[in-house]
Amino acid sequence: MSDIQTARKAVRDMGLRLLETGLVIGTWGNVSVRIGVKVVITPSGADYALLREEDMPVIDLETGAYEGAKPSSEKGLHLEVYRRRKEINAVIHVHSPHAATMAAARKPLPPILDDIAQLIGPGVRVADYALPSTGRIVRKTMRALKGRMAALMANHGAICLGRDLEEAYLCCQVLEKGCKAYIEAEFLGGAKGINYFEAALMHQFFLRKYSRQWKDENPT
Ligand SMILES: [Zn+2]
Repeated sequence: MSDIQTARKAVRDMGLRLLETGLVIGTWGNVSVRIGVKVVITPSGADYALLREEDMPVIDLETGAYEGAKPSSEKGLHLEVYRRRKEINAVIHVHSPHAATMAAARKPLPPILDDIAQLIGPGVRVADYALPSTGRIVRKTMRALKGRMAALMANHGAICLGRDLEEAYLCCQVLEKGCKAYIEAEFLGGAKGINYFEAALMHQFFLRKYSRQWKDENPT
């Protein structure tokens, strides 16, 4: 994805997809993509079904200035991810049902399934509670994301990262499925986690294999 117009369309389409797949309800949730020093993000409090490509605000990563509609109130978190994690090019924030249950119980998700370990890392932490749209929630969430592609946010929801938008979306799906599996496995006598080191190894392997594939498919 190289230009702003393509990114605006991709962000708008992803907003709709999140709504259709139940990962987002109403206007809670936001999507962004990094294109060089610019970030295309969903606007503040907008109804995804009514959004047009040209409604998507574009923020300058260095100055924080934006063009177009008012950006999502969680833009600070998206920008901080791009500033601190150079490999990340897409961020999706959701309040999906099972991730929200885990966030409400403030329960971290252990690496109970191979896909969680591969894509997200050896477990998903819960960021301490902080009021939405504050500097504090940004700091708490960044700490929980260290070395991971997702984090739960206490009493709020989840954030998923990707080296591209499809990877961030897959991360939301794997996290939601993983939280559901964890809650249900607890009723079956208790979820059993994969050994931490094996989970960490799977994650490293996935990151390297995927980045090689990605480079092969997108030669510069
Ligand atoms: Zn939120």
